Amino acid sequence: MTAMVLDAPGASLVAREVPRPEPGAGQVLVRVSACAVCRTDLHVVDGELPQVKRPVVPGHEIVGRVAVLGESVTRFALGDRVGIPWLGWTCGHCRFCRTGQENLCEQARFTGCTIDGGYAEFAVADARYCFPLPAVGADASLAPLLCAGLIGYRCLVACGDAERLGIYGFGAAAHIVAQVANHQGRRVFAFTRPGDVAAQAFARRHGAMWAGGADDAPPEELDAAILFAPVGALVPLALAAIRPGGTVVCGGIHMSDIPSFPYDLLWREKRLVSVANLTRRDGEAFLALAPQVPVRTDIEVFPLGEANAALNRLRAGQLTGAAVLIPGGV
Ligand SMILES: [Zn+2]
Ligand SMILES: [Zn+2]
Repeated sequence: MTAMVLDAPGASLVAREVPRPEPGAGQVLVRVSACAVCRTDLHVVDGELPQVKRPVVPGHEIVGRVAVLGESVTRFALGDRVGIPWLGWTCGHCRFCRTGQENLCEQARFTGCTIDGGYAEFAVADARYCFPLPAVGADASLAPLLCAGLIGYRCLVACGDAERLGIYGFGAAAHIVAQVANHQGRRVFAFTRPGDVAAQAFARRHGAMWAGGADDAPPEELDAAILFAPVGALVPLALAAIRPGGTVVCGGIHMSDIPSFPYDLLWREKRLVSVANLTRRDGEAFLALAPQVPVRTDIEVFPLGEANAALNRLRAGQLTGAAVLIPGGV
């Protein structure tokens, strides 16, 4: 099969013919029909995550169909449409796994990072961590739900009942979260790179009632803010924009250093938290909610062989919405 392989940090992905993986006991082989490109993939490629295996096939927002059932898999049938997310395996018995925090399992394995992922024609996954997908919706449109949607949803939950919600960095995750937030009766205030009027227009199209630059003050005090942009300098700005008792949620796996800031920005019981990975429960809750909203994704499709071009467009901030790779060609 053809896979886009990362051999070393900082290198470009290389299209390579590799043996089709075989599913072991409890695993399924999935023929990939679409794999969305996540900002985390950039951190994988750029060597910003220490745990990445080498070589690795990136990609953890996979939609495909079950092609081979490994021994003892009864959860799925051949041909079932499934989603494969970032969380690929957990130990099941550590203090985190036992208390509903499998996202923090110290032995967790991650798709497209410590397990080969979906920038390929086929991927193997542990069936217990795959999600059944609804019958409606095109494969490519559903793919961004598998991480941008899931992690975005976990960030939104971390905001509690915040009604005035700020979102810093308006890309794939934000455009999904904004739709869910509106559906829940919240108001969304979008912050983009200063002067990025295209991103601000994109944010308004997807339900932001206000959009401006990250250095602009919002028209109202916010109850909570989510940071999807991996820019530590945004943390003090977001803390300044929220009310006493409000929450700032850092949604990325990697962020540049946070500059020092006066304690006054945190005082009055403001909370600064991060969201790490996902639990299967997050996925089930979000995938049940998404059709009710209904969430519509803005995607730009690329043939699998153009994965480097898709990553470069994401890096340059040239994408609106999500890039999606199509192994079968577009
Ligand atoms: Zn564990
Ligand atoms: Zn991701």
